[in-house]
Amino acid sequence: MLVWKELIEGIYLVKEKSSRVNILNSLVIEPKNQSNILIDTNYPFDDIDNLYSEIDNAEFLLFSHGHLDHTAHAFYHQNKYGTPIYIPIQESEYITNIETLNEKIGFKKLNLEDNYRMMIKKYMKFDLCNKVNSYIPGKDNFKSKNFIINTIHIPGHSPGHTAFSIKSKDKVSKSILYVSDIGSHPYYGDLSSNLTEYRKSIDKLEAIYLNGEYILIPAHGTYYLDKDKEFFNRIRHKIDSNEKKIIDCLNTRNYKSIKELVEERILTSADRIFEPIKELYYIWDGGMILNHLDELNEKDIVEKIKGNTFLDNKYKLK
Ligand SMILES: [Zn+2]
Repeated sequence: MLVWKELIEGIYLVKEKSSRVNILNSLVIEPKNQSNILIDTNYPFDDIDNLYSEIDNAEFLLFSHGHLDHTAHAFYHQNKYGTPIYIPIQESEYITNIETLNEKIGFKKLNLEDNYRMMIKKYMKFDLCNKVNSYIPGKDNFKSKNFIINTIHIPGHSPGHTAFSIKSKDKVSKSILYVSDIGSHPYYGDLSSNLTEYRKSIDKLEAIYLNGEYILIPAHGTYYLDKDKEFFNRIRHKIDSNEKKIIDCLNTRNYKSIKELVEERILTSADRIFEPIKELYYIWDGGMILNHLDELNEKDIVEKIKGNTFLDNKYKLK
């Protein structure tokens, strides 16, 4: 089942009602016009069917980035409904080539490719797309009959991560700022993620948000019809609290490896970890820990001994 909410005239926030994890705040632009635009509409297959029963032909499906919680069912839109797909150029292979996906996220480096492949097939029901169109975030923009969709490159979460500023051509209604995965659970664990860039992307979006009249839509969780000046600060605090958890586990005497830190379950608590995919947290949590320790090393707060893989890197406080 899908729940529709009209944000401004012509733009709907559409959400599946299910118990799946990582449910999306996706957008449908001008569903009642001939050509409409879908943003991150990744739902269970029957909900996708339901979506198409409510709209005319979709002109295209626009993705904010390649992570599979946003894109796993792109192939279904493409194969069953012939919807063209646009995805940031940095991540177009995430949905056309599993090997590249494994390499960019980092599972290949840790020999966890088979675990990841199992997870995305069995639990996410992912399949590959044949051919997708790519766009350059921050350069290529889009438009529908009544709206302009500007892309804003916000790397850090992933290399091609993109926000959308959506404005009506008549400039009467409020605009929409879709900030994708810059949100309440900041993630920067892929080996192609980068915490320093993530922080810069927060600053970039905050400046845009505070200087305009926007409805703020993160890809997951709560969205904000009225201005919430603290939204971006809360994300910064969450990042600081991750850093503190890591520092609190280190001391000045003994070195500790990233593998050991992951196994202490300081970022994702043990009760939230689903046994068949436990190993994948060596990237999801390990990559986040690595990003923090790189920063702390840069700031001369920790000492580092480099290991064979990043999981074997060892650190202690200076
Ligand atoms: Zn993501």
